[in-house]
Amino acid sequence: DFVIQATNLHRSYRIGKKSIEVLHGIDLAIKRGERIFLCGPSGAGKSTLLYTLAGLERPEQGSIHIDGTDLYSLGPKKQAAFRNAKIGYIFQNYMLLPELTALENVLVPGAIGGHDASEAALAALTRVGLADRAEHLPAELSGGEQQRVAIARALVNHPPVLFADEPTGNLDSRNSKEVMDLLLGLAAESGTTLVVVTHDENLATRGDRRLVIKDGTITEASSLETGPVPA
Ligand code: ADP
Ligand code: ADP
Repeated sequence: DFVIQATNLHRSYRIGKKSIEVLHGIDLAIKRGERIFLCGPSGAGKSTLLYTLAGLERPEQGSIHIDGTDLYSLGPKKQAAFRNAKIGYIFQNYMLLPELTALENVLVPGAIGGHDASEAALAALTRVGLADRAEHLPAELSGGEQQRVAIARALVNHPPVLFADEPTGNLDSRNSKEVMDLLLGLAAESGTTLVVVTHDENLATRGDRRLVIKDGTITEASSLETGPVPA
């Protein structure tokens, strides 16, 4: 039961007259509930791949199925609704709206208000341990707390898939560990499939599998339980 299935993804960027292929025929199959770390050098295409898998950047070639649906076959409105229901996304810099409270930020993907939406948003804040910060603005929260609000927002609709792009990149080591513990714990507890981009090899040992992107292709780093697989 693959909840994320990508076939032959190609994506290139044009820089001046040169075209650089960042994704060079990538295939991926990720099982429901798996927790994957995606590593690779800076500029290798980790963010591009995550964007593409999340429906935010159409590949020039290839297809992506999320929870059985062909993501890029949907029209813009259907795709937005699908993303909202099925995909949570977390950014390095949190991407909270600065003029909204923590609670209002979590309400955003629920598409506008109502009693049930507020309840769900508060429940999500409670899951990340921030119920008592509901009325705070992002500027009144620490970096780790802001990222936890972003995690609550990503999970408020209980999506089967959660993507996180360098979620601890702006945090000190203590907050990094807290945020990563939280992400891994929430994913395990809810069966959410988690794909985390990181260049931190220490963090990356904590998932079920580690994938490495380099030269536009993906390799399986190793089975984490058994150590490196002989070539
Ligand atoms: P990573 O996340 O692994 O650091 P990125 O996916 O951000 O890598 O970028 C991969 C490569 O594609 C880099 O060389 C980057 O400069 C280039 N790139 C990314 N986005 C764009 C864009 N919108 N336009 C042009 N080049 C881009
Ligand atoms: P990350 O730190 O996750 O690798 P970046 O800071 O490289 O991300 O990129 C942030 C944003 O800028 C992304 O939306 C990416 O597509 C875009 N981007 C990255 N490199 C380039 C580039 N060379 N030209 C234009 N846009 C870029």
